Amino acid sequence: MAHVKNEITKSKLKTPKEQITDILSDLLKVTAIALPDDVFESLKKMQACEDSELSKELYSCIFDNLDKAEKLKRPLCQDTGVLQFFIKAGVRFPYLALLGDAIKDATQNATSSVPLRHNVVESFDERNTGNNIGTLAPWCEWEIIDGDGLEIDVYLAGGGCTLPGRSKVLMPLEGYEGVVKFVFDTIVEWGVNACPPLVVGVGIGTCATTASILSKKAILRKIGSSNPNPKAADMERRMKIGLDNIGIGPLGLKGKQSVQCVNIEYAAHHPATLGVGVTVGCWATRRGSINIKNDLSYEITSHKNKIN
Ligand code: SF4
Repeated sequence: MAHVKNEITKSKLKTPKEQITDILSDLLKVTAIALPDDVFESLKKMQACEDSELSKELYSCIFDNLDKAEKLKRPLCQDTGVLQFFIKAGVRFPYLALLGDAIKDATQNATSSVPLRHNVVESFDERNTGNNIGTLAPWCEWEIIDGDGLEIDVYLAGGGCTLPGRSKVLMPLEGYEGVVKFVFDTIVEWGVNACPPLVVGVGIGTCATTASILSKKAILRKIGSSNPNPKAADMERRMKIGLDNIGIGPLGLKGKQSVQCVNIEYAAHHPATLGVGVTVGCWATRRGSINIKNDLSYEITSHKNKIN
């Protein structure tokens, strides 16, 4: 595959928009076929922790699935999700105006070439568009940064893992105990729908909107990383221990561990309100990360160990 090398300059015969489309198509292909390095390593560690025959067998099925997906170059789960892009765009990147169209073209290309399942249904019409493009789909979150390149994360939001997602504004006196209760209630009630072991993203902010967006950004952060705020990092660690102790196990069939991580992202909040959001990723948490330079050379940073 073209993304084998970390630094590749695309053919000058293609227009910049075509080159960016090709680059993003490569990113979508690798993201649908192979897990990012950190998720793969996390599952390996979790497999080693389990001692029941059933848990071992389930992890063995997961790794057999991953192996076959890579060998056959097929999506590792039939639900390739709805695509969501999180873009940090350098103010001096020369092709910013082309990027929105290139994302749509790459989505359409990957839908037919990988292939990705047709998952986008136009709201109210309830008609499947057949190409994974619809009103505000793929979803794009934009952030302007200093620099002349792009940093893009793409997330494949499957149905089962999206199902537990929720957010609310806590009553003033509920505080951080209320945050923990909300996360535990959500995972206990809905987590099993999302093909555990789960990646749990928690967002904290002033309202349901900010908390929800931050909870999605939290699952884009690597497993094994900690929030730089020591209090938030401590809450991440304690919630992981607590959720593991519930014993959901791989695919919800009991085991020593339930979650791959709990990642928290937060924003400052109104003194009277504390919003909390939860977003869940499944064992097949598929996210891809890429850096694109202004000369359109690029590096896929999420899958360095898996592509050869
Ligand atoms: S929850 Fe994840 S692994 Fe399970 S069907 Fe959905 S996308 Fe696939």
